[in-house]
Amino acid sequence: MKDVIIIGAGPGGLSAAAWCSELGLETLVLEANRETGGQLLWTHNPVHNHLGATTANGTELRDIFLQQLEPFRFELRLNAKVKAADLANKKIILETGEILTARAIILATGIRRKKLNIGEDKFVGRGLLESGKRDRDTVRGKNVAIIGGGDAACENALILAETATNVTLIHRRQEFRARRDFLEQIAGNPKIKVLTETVVTKIIGKEQIEAIKLCQIIENKSYQIPVSAILLRIGVEPNTEFLGEALRKDKNGYIEINSCGETNLENIYAIGDAANPLSPTVSTAVGMGATAAKVLYSKLNL
Ligand SMILES: Cc1cc2nc3c(=O)[nH]c(=O)nc-3n(C[C@H](O)[C@H](O)[C@H](O)COP(=O)(O)OP(=O)(O)OC[C@H]3O[C@@H](n4cnc5c(N)ncnc54)[C@H](O)[C@@H]3O)c2cc1C
Repeated sequence: MKDVIIIGAGPGGLSAAAWCSELGLETLVLEANRETGGQLLWTHNPVHNHLGATTANGTELRDIFLQQLEPFRFELRLNAKVKAADLANKKIILETGEILTARAIILATGIRRKKLNIGEDKFVGRGLLESGKRDRDTVRGKNVAIIGGGDAACENALILAETATNVTLIHRRQEFRARRDFLEQIAGNPKIKVLTETVVTKIIGKEQIEAIKLCQIIENKSYQIPVSAILLRIGVEPNTEFLGEALRKDKNGYIEINSCGETNLENIYAIGDAANPLSPTVSTAVGMGATAAKVLYSKLNL
């Protein structure tokens, strides 16, 4: 049995691992992905707001974290996805069926982007874009659709309009939740067409995306527009559904904690974006990792 198991090796989990190691706790970090970093791997813009380093992108910051972690002693298992948990009894079940236990568990599972669930996974690398910044050059001369109504959707519409022939921004509501400056720039950009109260019901294409089917909700009118690329920015949701009923979560699935990172279950902590912090940032996740490690150390009475 380990002293601590940390689920997730994003900024929060890595910070908690450093602190647990520093405090002499025998620590195991489980990461579903084949590499560490969490959302840093999706960050293609420069990161300059986490003190200590300015980097060209998130992966570069992750590499700095890993370099700094080299002297710390903890076990890291990649490709180790947790499938289920009985947190009241501190049991974790991996996808392989292996059962692990620890004296304390830190949940650092972060968030994921929401999907439309209309078969978009089939088009990964075939027109389903990952990021405006990363894919700006691949949409040169193409028709692109962006789905969503927040900052991320609007910012990406502006980025992709730099190279695409035209951009259709599709939002299911009437009002956008995005920053006013983004909305003003969109209104003044002749390449961007905005469709509100409209949902995407189907992605059409054999090898590549060729078109999307839309439904105007108010008029209940369906029609099709030709696009060869789409980008989804319809919000995020926490990676917490597999953590069991005993763990208290809010209505959106975020883990409820106190200011020490303690959940409603003894010696079970949650940190970073999965616990819905007021500011979901690298610095917050890193700080919450340190707090949880120090509190659990004192509670374990070592
Ligand atoms: C495009 C983009 C740009 C950003 N820019 C900035 C910025 O400039 N500055 C800033 O401070 N923040 C930025 N952020 C936010 C920042 O990246 C996050 O706040 C931070 O990564 C949260 O860290 P975390 O450890 O809580 O979670 P995450 O980074 O989400 O990591 C969670 C980890 O848990 C793993 N995991 C999930 N489920 C399981 C499971 N079942 N079993 C095992 N492992 C699991 C995941 O694979 C992942 O590696 C940005 C985010 C994005 C998406």
